[in-house]
Amino acid sequence: MPKSGLIIGSGIAGMSAGVYLLRSGYDVTIYEKHVQSGGECVGWARKGVFIDGCAHWIVGTKEGTDLNEVWKEVGAIREDTVIHDNEYFAKYVVGGETVTFYSDLTKLEAELLRVAPEDKRRIRSFIKTVKHYQRVVIPTKRPLDYNNPFQWLKLAVKMAPMAMEYGNVKRVGLREYAKGFKSPILQELFLRIINPNFNLHALAYTMQALSIRDAGTIEGGSNVFAKNIEKTFTELGGKFVFNKAVSEIVIENGVATGVWLSNGETAKADYVIASCDAHHLFYDLLHDQHTPKFYSSRFENPEDNPLIQSVFLAYTLPVEEAKKLPKKIDFPMHGVSIGKFEFEHLVVLNHAFDATQNTTKVCLSVLNDVDDGVYEYLKGLSREEYLAEKKRLGEAIRAELAKDFGLDESLFELLDVATPLTYERYTNAYHGSYQAFASTKRMGALMHKGIIKGLKHFYFCGQWIMPPGGLPVAAFSAKMSAIRLCREDRKKFIAK
Ligand SMILES: Cc1cc2nc3c(=O)[nH]c(=O)nc-3n(C[C@H](O)[C@H](O)[C@H](O)COP(=O)(O)OP(=O)(O)OC[C@H]3O[C@@H](n4cnc5c(N)ncnc54)[C@H](O)[C@@H]3O)c2cc1C
Repeated sequence: MPKSGLIIGSGIAGMSAGVYLLRSGYDVTIYEKHVQSGGECVGWARKGVFIDGCAHWIVGTKEGTDLNEVWKEVGAIREDTVIHDNEYFAKYVVGGETVTFYSDLTKLEAELLRVAPEDKRRIRSFIKTVKHYQRVVIPTKRPLDYNNPFQWLKLAVKMAPMAMEYGNVKRVGLREYAKGFKSPILQELFLRIINPNFNLHALAYTMQALSIRDAGTIEGGSNVFAKNIEKTFTELGGKFVFNKAVSEIVIENGVATGVWLSNGETAKADYVIASCDAHHLFYDLLHDQHTPKFYSSRFENPEDNPLIQSVFLAYTLPVEEAKKLPKKIDFPMHGVSIGKFEFEHLVVLNHAFDATQNTTKVCLSVLNDVDDGVYEYLKGLSREEYLAEKKRLGEAIRAELAKDFGLDESLFELLDVATPLTYERYTNAYHGSYQAFASTKRMGALMHKGIIKGLKHFYFCGQWIMPPGGLPVAAFSAKMSAIRLCREDRKKFIAK
């Protein structure tokens, strides 16, 4: 009889771990608190319009890259998957200019020099840093600690330029980096590309995937992406138990043997794999009895390890108007706040590029990072106050969109508003964080192994394995968990 694996959570990590374990000969059941799979990688419809709540760029869309292989193994990217390249990360309206942050580094360099010739040296140095980062290797073949000396050597040779650059950029916060430009346009621009609490490493890492054209978008969006993995999982014989939250991990003599469910039932298994939020896992499901320092030191020091939280708003716009607008554009914004947090810019994602989502109206979504004060503020509101606050924010941003695009306000219809409380409610995300910790200048070790000393038959995967999380970390960490489990069980790991 095959041994059993019980997975907590049916996000990208949980389902990917399930696929690998099924292929390797295990009997797998996923317990999910929600009524559907996908976790944070999800889309939904309002008033007949599809809202893509996640994947606006997916690292691993380029044929032949290591992550692309992972997406193919789990079935997220298939023969018939239509991939849209991201020609640029975003367009930025800044200091009266529209600056395109191109993926192509030659074009990007020319564009930055166009608006800030006085920053020639710094621009060239930034481009050089990203070029060094193109040598980054994402460990998708085996856990790093399984490498033999030859594999370490190969990795070291390949990664040397990037590793040297990492030493230079990891201690540079984006706020201080931005200040180093002479041009006020670039000073502002470099605060708006990604979360300004991140370090320069995070920006270089983001740009490397775009610059090698390995970070596209897929037709059909997050739903298709997640459902493709769900399909692979069920076709291999995997089972889902939806609407059943795990409340505790059962440990007998240092071995994980199953879980307690919130309805009081237990479920037994030979192996338990948790793919849910890290705080929920260590502090709720394991009662802080096994919290690795990697996590406790971060959760206890939020100043240096900020969470990545956001508000996400969805609007419709007639398709003919949306088609004239860029895929992603970022405007300055003043006078719109939530609690004590004042928005400084507005990030707009336009889904008109996706033929499957366009009928007569298209979704424009707004994805803006906020700070933890917003979570605390919203948490303190009554239900009525919270709903009124969401509506107020939705309307304030609707007015901004109309002003920024020079269109009539009536063309934009508010569809939905998600806040950190929404992500917490649906997925148990700690303080509603939509990725893991930010990569900051004071952050320590890079990656957790997903195993816990003194706790056997237990593995942990998902976006919290490595800051700043995201879909690729969810998937490759799942593969690493499956490889470790197979090795512990002396079974052959089968990826495809
Ligand atoms: C608006 C938005 C935009 C994003 N854009 C991008 C993007 O463009 N590119 C990118 O790479 N990433 C993006 N992300 C991040 C990406 O969605 C996540 O990093 C990724 O989906 C995390 O996957 P996961 O499987 O690790 O975790 P999750 O998706 O959080 O999955 C965990 C699952 O566990 C379940 N669960 C939790 N607790 C329990 C319990 N006790 N019992 C049972 N089940 C439980 C949850 O319900 C959930 O289904 C975005 C996220 C958001 C919200």
